[in-house]
Amino acid sequence: MSLVMKFGGSSVADAERMRQVAHLARSAASQGALVVLSAAGRTTDALLVAARHAESGRIEEALAGHQALQRAHRALAEALFPEGIPSGLQRALADLDDELDLLLRGVALLQECSPRSRDAITSVGERFSTRILAAFLGAPWVDARKVLRTDATFGAAQPQPEALRTLAREHLASHLHPGSLAVTQGFIGATSEGLTTTLGRGGSDYSASLFGAALEASEIQIWTDVEGVLTCDPRVVPGAQAIPELSFAEAAELAAFGAKVLHPATLEPAVAAGIPVTVRHTLRPEGCFTTITAHPGTGRPATALACRGPVTVLTVTSSRMLNQSGFLARLFEVFRHHRTSVDLVATAEVSVSLTVDADAPLDRLRADLEAFARVEVAEDRAIVALVGERLKATPGVTGRAFGALGDLNVEMISMGANEINLSLVVRHDEAPEALRRLHAAFFEEAP
Ligand code: ADP
Ligand code: ASP
Ligand code: MG
Repeated sequence: MSLVMKFGGSSVADAERMRQVAHLARSAASQGALVVLSAAGRTTDALLVAARHAESGRIEEALAGHQALQRAHRALAEALFPEGIPSGLQRALADLDDELDLLLRGVALLQECSPRSRDAITSVGERFSTRILAAFLGAPWVDARKVLRTDATFGAAQPQPEALRTLAREHLASHLHPGSLAVTQGFIGATSEGLTTTLGRGGSDYSASLFGAALEASEIQIWTDVEGVLTCDPRVVPGAQAIPELSFAEAAELAAFGAKVLHPATLEPAVAAGIPVTVRHTLRPEGCFTTITAHPGTGRPATALACRGPVTVLTVTSSRMLNQSGFLARLFEVFRHHRTSVDLVATAEVSVSLTVDADAPLDRLRADLEAFARVEVAEDRAIVALVGERLKATPGVTGRAFGALGDLNVEMISMGANEINLSLVVRHDEAPEALRRLHAAFFEEAP
């Protein structure tokens, strides 16, 4: 049974890290490993900036952005091959440069960048990084677009697992026997017509999990810049602690509520296939790591904190709501109509509060809702989520959370239907302080 090893952007940002990735991959080769890579460092951001310049007709800026990426990838390859970049890699990089040049010029000419064009442009980042690593490892380079079949929702493509399984058998399985390695791209896929798609930002984790499920891998490893999933984002709470074991449900909930360490869709294919997912630090492979499975050991009442924001809270009030059986249906129809997903819902006798993403079409939502209710809007809020399988079995969690928050105002509260997520809405600028206080109460004191 093979292994899937995904390395994120920071893990392949420079030659030193690429060497470390190669070392880790070689150490795992005895099982047969598929290495799934993100674009190096901030390449995807840079490609999106270049695409925006091109769309606005600023071709010089767009091409300057491309040249900077070209130089950075060339420098990476030169550092890995001090004797000279092999001709196969030279050609592959030159072809990618030509393709990117054409794409940017095409967009600039039309001054129009559709999601389809944007996907074609951003896909170049993962192709650059994987070409370099595959050459360095001397391992086969597999074009993910031949395997990761998706629909045509450019920018947020939906994978088609059945087709993916068949294509993985056809294009990947032959490379993956004990002792061998293959390298492919995260983030990118293609439609049945061969059009390049992407799974959305941070989507390489999802790719790894999809490949793992299709290959019936023994483990999906997510290698990144933290020692596993921690009790909170360490950028907000520097004292956040490693979590050795996590349930699929907890990890999915943390990801959905903003823990960037995993793309929100990552766990789905792994759960369906019953494959453990581990999260590990590329530069500290001997350090702590997290194993995510269906049945982890039990621990503290709360497992971790996550935060998502900014979000907008809509409070919809109607005195006619009382005993009106169709009210909620009518309410949610408005959100469906505007293709707006609702995260949290809390109901009271005559009002319903809901949270939507900050970029939701507020004016249109409001206009439709005001046809039958009064609407109050609170922008710049954040959802702080306390997640844990044992929350439901622990009395007094809500009281403890409120006690910890002290004078910070909680504007909405919701216990997820699965009872492993207590979500609190606070002002966005107060969210870091709310996380620090909750972390102190739930993870830094005796349970
Ligand atoms: P990669 O490029 O490897 O995909 P990401 O930047 O997407 O890495 O994800 C790793 C980052 O996620 C960490 O550096 C950390 O700041 C952030 N993060 C947010 N929440 C958590 C958490 N609960 N545990 C660990 N890291 C977290
Ligand atoms: N390179 C893509 C991004 O930056 C995908 C990923 O890194 O997961 O969003
Ligand atoms: Mg990521």
